Formats: sequence, structure tokens, C-alpha cells
Amino acid sequence: MISFNTRALLDTPISDFIIPSEKVAHVQVGNSAEHALLVLTKTGYSSVPVLDVKYRLHGLLSIKMITEAILGLERIEYDKLSDIKVDDVMESGVTYLYNTDTFQKALDLVINHAFLCVVDEEGTFVGILTRRVILKQLKKYIYQVEQ
Ligand code: AMP
Repeated sequence: MISFNTRALLDTPISDFIIPSEKVAHVQVGNSAEHALLVLTKTGYSSVPVLDVKYRLHGLLSIKMITEAILGLERIEYDKLSDIKVDDVMESGVTYLYNTDTFQKALDLVINHAFLCVVDEEGTFVGILTRRVILKQLKKYIYQVEQ
């Protein structure tokens, strides 16, 4: 049986734990793969959200998606980078969270995702929730209940 304290943690809204959109590196629909490669390399993030001008979420983009698109039979075709758009190579239809979702839902999803994009009720991107933040909260909770 789930204790009162654990239930409270699981029911906590994720809004408390979100990295806000202004701190999240992203690329925009229509950006070139060359620009995206620069963003991904400079920030060091394994993947970043793809947003439109209205901050709606379109997908996720990683370096692997870009390199796969320029991989020729014998060489990497770097000259293709400026012609490819991020929307041609991104992963679309990605799993996301609403900012009203609970810690429990996030906990289930971060098993398979290093981070999840978070949108509001209008579908506007508000930030991300990372596995690291969820694990930190879980660790804090475990040490608290064991005191
Ligand atoms: P971390 O938990 O900091 O290791 O982040 C895990 C993954 O979440 C990173 O590799 C990125 O793909 C993504 N991420 C974390 N923080 C940011 C950020 N500020 N901007 C963009 N993506 C991020």
C-alpha cells in the first residue's frame, strides 16, 4: 500500500520542477541542419526541442538524426548540411507532458526518456522536465522518509 507521504509526492504537479523555456536551448522549424548542428555541438545537449515561432512543439532533434541524413556511402557529405531543414530530419510525434501533469506520470515516462518537453493547455511549449530533476526529487524524498 502506498503511504500518505509517497502519495503526496506522486500527486505533486510537475510545474514545480520544470526548466523554463527561456533556459532551454532549441531550434526552430525551417532552421538549417547546419545551424542545428552548431547549436547541438556548442550546448553539448544530446537533443533539443524543435519549436515554431509561436513556441509550439514540433519534435526533437539530435546530432545522430543530422549525421544520418548526410551519411553517404563512402563519406560524410557535409556540403548537404545547409540544404537540409531541421523539419526534414527531426523526430516528430514525440511524447510530452502537460504542466498540470503529476510527478507520477513523469516518473513513468522518464524511464524511457532523458527529458520530456512540457506544454500548457494551449499547446505552447513551457519548458522541459529532465530525468536528472526527477531523480533528485526522488533521492530527497527517500532520505527524508528514512530520517
Ligand atoms: P541533463 O539532465 O542535464 O543531463 O539533461 C539531459 C538532456 O536533457 C540533455 O542531454 C538535453 O538533451 C536535455 N536538456 C537538459 N537541459 C537542457 C537545456 N537547458 N536546453 C536544452 N536541452 C536540455
